Amino acid sequence: MIRSGGSTDFDVAIVGGGIVGLAHAWRAVSRGHRVVLFERTQIAEGASVRNFGMIWPVGQPAGELYQTALESRDLWLQLGKLGVTSVENCGSLHLAHQQDELDVLREFCALNTHQGKIVDPDEIGELSPLANPEGLLGGMYSPTELRVDPRSASHSIANWLADEHQVKFCFNTAVADVTGGRIETSDGQRFTANRVIVCSGSDLQTLYPDEFASSGLKLCKLQMLRTGPQTGINERTPHIASGLTLRHYTSFESCRTHQKLRDRIARESPLLDHYGIHVMASVFPGGEVVLGDSHEYGERISPFDKTEIDDLILAELKKVIQLEDWSIQQRWHGIYAKHASLPVYEKQIEPGVHLFVGTGGAGMTMSFGLAERTWQRWEMEKQ
Ligand SMILES: Cc1cc2nc3c(=O)[nH]c(=O)nc-3n(C[C@H](O)[C@H](O)[C@H](O)COP(=O)(O)OP(=O)(O)OC[C@H]3O[C@@H](n4cnc5c(N)ncnc54)[C@H](O)[C@@H]3O)c2cc1C
Repeated sequence: MIRSGGSTDFDVAIVGGGIVGLAHAWRAVSRGHRVVLFERTQIAEGASVRNFGMIWPVGQPAGELYQTALESRDLWLQLGKLGVTSVENCGSLHLAHQQDELDVLREFCALNTHQGKIVDPDEIGELSPLANPEGLLGGMYSPTELRVDPRSASHSIANWLADEHQVKFCFNTAVADVTGGRIETSDGQRFTANRVIVCSGSDLQTLYPDEFASSGLKLCKLQMLRTGPQTGINERTPHIASGLTLRHYTSFESCRTHQKLRDRIARESPLLDHYGIHVMASVFPGGEVVLGDSHEYGERISPFDKTEIDDLILAELKKVIQLEDWSIQQRWHGIYAKHASLPVYEKQIEPGVHLFVGTGGAGMTMSFGLAERTWQRWEMEKQ
C-alpha cells in the first residue's frame, strides 16, 4: 500500500515512463491494480521516443521469444484499434543485393519458423518504391512487422492510461531511493507500495550502482537520421532492412549460410563491424524516412556524434534504397541498456521490488509481451 501525503493508496508503483514502464502500467491496470508511475522528465524522452518505431517480430529467434513478440504485436494492434495511438500493419522487406544475402533469406524461409516469403525484384518494386532496383537479386517479405510513431506513442499511451484507467502519473519526479518497498522522490515525497517495478531504461546506475556493475548490462549508443518528406511513400510502405541486418538479429543465426555472409562483410568492410552498422529505413506520416543505425558499446560511447558513422550509414543505404531527396533534416542518438544473453534483465532486488531493464534494441517490439508474461507469472505465484 502506498501512502502519499496520507491521501492515496496504490497497489503498484513504477519508476520510468518509457515503453517498459508503460507496458507494466497497462498490464497491471488490466488486472484491476491501482498504479502510480514516476517519470523524472516532463515527458519521456529516452530510448522509447528515439527509435525507428519498428515492431519487429521477424528479428526474434524461433520459439518463446518469437511467440512473445507476436503477443506484443497483438497488444499493439489492440491499442491501434482502440484509437490510443496509430499502429500501421506495414510488414517488412529484407533486400538482397548480394548472393550470400539471398542464400540466407532462402534458407531462413525454408526453415518455416517465421512467416517470411521470398519475393523477386518485380514483386519488391510493387511492394515498395523505396527499394533500389540496381543490383537487386530478391528479398524476403514478412507480414508481421508494424509501425508506430515513437515521437507520440509513449505520450498517447500515458494519456490513455491516465484518462481511462486512472493511472496516476508523476512527471518531473525523479525517484531518489527505493528501499524496503518505500519510494523516496528527489523532492522529498515518500510512498510505499506492495510492488515496485523499476523500469529506468539505460539508467540503472543512479538507483542501483552495484547492481548495474554486476548485472552484465552494457550501454549501447545508436546514431539515427531523418529525411524530409518524400512523395509516393507513406506509413504503410514496408520497413526496409538490408543484407547487413541479417548479421544483427539473432533470428538468422540458425542459418548455415549465415557465417559466410558475416565473414564477407568483416573482410570487405571492417568499419561496419567496428561501428556495429546495419541499415534500415522506416517511413513516417508525410513521407519522412527514418534511417539508421550504428551500435557503439560501453567506454566507446561519446556524447559527441561521429560524422564518419552517419556517412557510412548513408553510403550503405544508398546501395539498397532510393530517395528523391537525401537531405537530412534531423540527426540524433539514443542509448539503451542491453544484456549479452537475456531479452530483459529482470530481478527481484528485495521483497516486492523488481528491476525490469535492458530490453536492448527490441524494447518496442517485446515490452508488452514480456510485461504480460511477467504479470501472468506473478499471478500464478500468488495462487
Ligand atoms: C536509436 C534506437 C532505435 C531503436 N529502434 C527500435 C525499434 O525500431 N524497435 C524496437 O523494438 N526497439 C527499438 N529500440 C529499442 C527500444 O527503443 C528500447 O528497448 C526501449 O525504448 C527501452 O524502453 P525503456 O522504457 O526501458 O527505456 P526508456 O525509454 O529510456 O525509459 C526509461 C525512463 O525511465 C526514466 N527514469 C530513469 N531513472 C529514473 C528515476 N530514478 N526516476 C524517474 N524516472 C526515471 C527516464 O527518464 C526514462 O524516461 C531502439 C532504441 C534506440 C536507442
